[in-house]
Order: sequence, then structure tokens, then C-alpha cells
Amino acid sequence: MKLPVSIYPDPVLRLRAEPIGEFGPEMQQLVTDMVETMYEDDGVGLAAPQVGKGLRLITVDPTGPKERKGLMVLVNPEIMEREGEVESEEGCLSVPDFKCAIRRSHRIRVRALDRDGAPVEFEALDYQAVIIQHEVDHLNGVLILDHASRLKRGIYDKKVRKLQRQREKGES
Ligand SMILES: [Zn+2]
Repeated sequence: MKLPVSIYPDPVLRLRAEPIGEFGPEMQQLVTDMVETMYEDDGVGLAAPQVGKGLRLITVDPTGPKERKGLMVLVNPEIMEREGEVESEEGCLSVPDFKCAIRRSHRIRVRALDRDGAPVEFEALDYQAVIIQHEVDHLNGVLILDHASRLKRGIYDKKVRKLQRQREKGES
């Protein structure tokens, strides 16, 4: 089932997500729903806080919804090593109509658990590494807005507040 995506400034996006210790049916369903949500919303990555769950769980597929050939489900992911630098133009399903250039590590070493709780460790490069860093940011309550310049962020915040006011007026 596709889940609704939390949109900035939803406070759930700012919480530090909790580690997962249970791999039962509830968690399996969440993984399945997150993968479906990621693909249906045309994303290449999704973190559990984006669907309102404060858990350290991310889904990543650099090949995108058309190919669906690079799916990874990472539980309690940790970035152990970083090397090099790459600049990426990033957007986020939780921050609509916003894009910004972010400096990320070019190569990372990741340690995590898979969806069944088995440990995995691997190296990621380039686009895959960028997506993982973006999603791990979500687990720590960090959004692409935090990487943007103050000016750019200020403009976006203003736009969001204006939309909120319009919505409130419409509802009252
Ligand atoms: Zn995001």
C-alpha cells in the first residue's frame, strides 16, 4: 500500500529516528509499503520518517521506478568511512519544489542490516553513495534545506508559510 509522504515542515521529519530491533510482519509490511511509495512517487530513495515512522530504515534504488534493478533495504545504516567529494543536485519528496546543490562524499563504506536482520557491509560510489547519504540524513532529522544557503532557504520558508496561510484561510 502506498503511504502518504510527510511534507516539510512536518515535525516528524526533524526527529532522530530510533534503531530497529524487531523484524516481524509489521516491519516487513512497512518495508513493502515504503518500496511501493518510493517507486510510485518516482523517487530513488525513501526514509521511514518520510512516511511518519521514526525508525532507522531506508530504501534506495538508484535505477529508479522504471528499471527497479538496484533496490536496497537498509536497517540501522551507518556510514563507516567517507572519501572524496562530489556535488549533487538534489530534490526530496518531503520538500516539494525545491532543489539544491549539495557536497557529498564520493565513496562511502556502509554497515547496516538487511530486512531480515542479517548484517551487510559494502562500499557505495557516486549516485548510490549520494542517495544513501541523503536518506541517512533523514534518519538524523536533517533535510536538504539544511544544506542550502540561508538566502535560498529563507525564500523557500517564506513560500511554505504563505501556502500554509492560504490553506488555513481556505479551511476556516
Ligand atoms: Zn529526502
